[in-house]
Amino acid sequence: TAKERGKDRHVVFETSMDGRSERRLTLEAGLRYALEREELGVLYQPVVRLADGRDAGAEALVRWRHPQRGVVPPAAFIPLAEETGLIIGIGEQVLREACARAREWRDLLKGGGTPTVWVNLSARQFHEPGLPELVESVLEEAGLDPGSLGLEITEGVAMDESGFGAGRTTATLRNLKELGVRLAVDDFGTGYSSLSYLKRLPLDVLKIDRSFVSGLEKNTEDRAIVSAVATLARDMELEVVAEGVETEEQLHILRELGCSLAQGYYFAKPLPATEVSARLEGGLASATGP
Ligand code: C2E
Ligand code: MG
Ligand code: MG
Ligand code: MG
Repeated sequence: TAKERGKDRHVVFETSMDGRSERRLTLEAGLRYALEREELGVLYQPVVRLADGRDAGAEALVRWRHPQRGVVPPAAFIPLAEETGLIIGIGEQVLREACARAREWRDLLKGGGTPTVWVNLSARQFHEPGLPELVESVLEEAGLDPGSLGLEITEGVAMDESGFGAGRTTATLRNLKELGVRLAVDDFGTGYSSLSYLKRLPLDVLKIDRSFVSGLEKNTEDRAIVSAVATLARDMELEVVAEGVETEEQLHILRELGCSLAQGYYFAKPLPATEVSARLEGGLASATGP
């Protein structure tokens, strides 16, 4: 080992670095650089209203356009960004960018609809002091009305898994709610089983996790869960978004179960903002007729 080989600090350093932490450091340095150079991009996945098939809005999904490695998906860098705190800067960039696009979409539709842009918040972003103030100033800067922005938190954040204090979680959500933004629980059904937070928190939307939607055709349990969530949501006056819809059959079942909104490859993959603009314009044209 390095210790046996003496007190050469260089050797100690080299041998104590396993491949994993080395890759981690490289990734962290790369991410830091990407943040400065604005190599981070945002794609938008449409949220479709099942009643008329039109886009009700879109979810902002971050991408890292790595000069050598190509497009890096969020799963490969969000956890590290969360650990290192880089998520704060990344999240702010995504929020600014998403609000600017949503303002463009609203202008494009000239009153013929107000699409909502949804932005994911990680635990660390959610608990960063001053989040409501940041959101308020970004909205103002973009000239976006608060109702056109939605924020997605996970069940873990809603349940205060990281131990910040349930009171603080509720207070932050109330402050955000007071601004007029919409609040969603992402990946609903995959976290803790306690539903008591639904009573406590000022939520607007439940996003049913893809893992339940993907089993809808074959699995009666999944169907029962989605049905129960749709009923629960209706009775609590929440909207439901079904995530990860990939087939027409799933869409039919979701309609039957009373689901009003959906996302998934069946409708559209995450797209560049310009393609979302084109879809919105197309929807407007088909609604008003030639
Ligand atoms: P999420 O918020 O639950 O987003 C849904 C993920 O499912 C996206 O993956 C999306 O591309 C993918 N997806 C959508 N429809 C389908 C489908 O029909 N089939 C399949 N197989 N997948 C589908 P993506 O973009 O890789 O994002 C993964 C996760 O990374 C997100 O899950 C979210 O938790 C996180 N994330 C993405 N962007 C951001 C961000 O800006 N900030 C933070 N904090 N987290 C982000
Ligand atoms: Mg999400
Ligand atoms: Mg989700
Ligand atoms: Mg999900």
